[in-house]
Amino acid sequence: MTSQHRMQAVRYHGPDQPFQLEQVARPEAAAGEVLVRILASGMCHTELHFGTGLLNLGVAPMTLGHEIVGRVEAVGAGVSEDRIGERVVLYYYLGCGDCQYCRAGDEQICPSLRAEYGFLSDGGYAEYIAVPARNAVALPAHVSDAEAASIGCGVTTAVHAAGLAELAGGEWAVVYGIGGVGLGLVQLARARGARVIAVSRTPAKLEKASALGAEFTVNASDGGVADRIREITGGTGADVVFECVGAAETMEQASAALGRRGRLVFIGYTEASFSIHPIQLVVFEQKVLGSVGATLQDLHEAVDLVGRGVIRTLVDRQLPLEEFQEGLDALEWGDPIGRIVLVP
Ligand SMILES: [Zn+2]
Ligand SMILES: [Zn+2]
Repeated sequence: MTSQHRMQAVRYHGPDQPFQLEQVARPEAAAGEVLVRILASGMCHTELHFGTGLLNLGVAPMTLGHEIVGRVEAVGAGVSEDRIGERVVLYYYLGCGDCQYCRAGDEQICPSLRAEYGFLSDGGYAEYIAVPARNAVALPAHVSDAEAASIGCGVTTAVHAAGLAELAGGEWAVVYGIGGVGLGLVQLARARGARVIAVSRTPAKLEKASALGAEFTVNASDGGVADRIREITGGTGADVVFECVGAAETMEQASAALGRRGRLVFIGYTEASFSIHPIQLVVFEQKVLGSVGATLQDLHEAVDLVGRGVIRTLVDRQLPLEEFQEGLDALEWGDPIGRIVLVP
């Protein structure tokens, strides 16, 4: 590594420490890797969880950011030079490749990850990143950098969760919480033929969910969310509830809204815990499951869905890297509709 090659990066220094914009060494493409000049980096709620210490993976200092779009600027040994200039979105997991989960393509639950960009390894709040060539997936030209950013986590997480839920056409799907993942889920569930009920406290988010395919909306500020869902579904309850919030009240309402053979899929989380009486699961044959991240195949599918316009991603605003704190504050307090995207 040549020390004169420096770049800017937003670094995490451990729980309860402020994130800091710093000069760090610019990475280079090792054998099998591509060097990506970052063009857009989406801001995900996960970054707030790092800030508060709710998520603490023990790696610090580290560059944040896992929704990464850029252009291949150089390639390492063994990678075709044809890839130079390609615009890409990155898959943020790098599994061990040997365990039973990796063999099945489920790198997101690999117990021996070699890298997880923005979680365990330096991520995308920076000017450059080097990743294995297979982690860089080509983007269609008509999807802008900022629009493509939330494919990396928001859309892929939605694709993965819908797959785990085995969501089928004609089913009632509740999307509880309309952030980046929620907006993707509304559109994906609709595209799969499900009937979508969107739940949020923010009228503007519900309007957006309606415009993107939700058949019904429920404003959670009015209370009685589960009752309202029972009413909409003619008493049967939801077949799938995607829980994208994970607060005590939302988890309770989500569970109460579940119908027979219903699947409650946790995606979002907070400090709050959740309890459910097994009799509900037993007599209604319900399932409670969690969904984390996505497979590389999910990312390829997400790129295809956005490329074909089946899923639209929304950009709330774009900010230069130096203004990351404004972005984090807006994410925490401003209730943005769509992604806040850093542009290094
Ligand atoms: Zn994320
Ligand atoms: Zn593995």
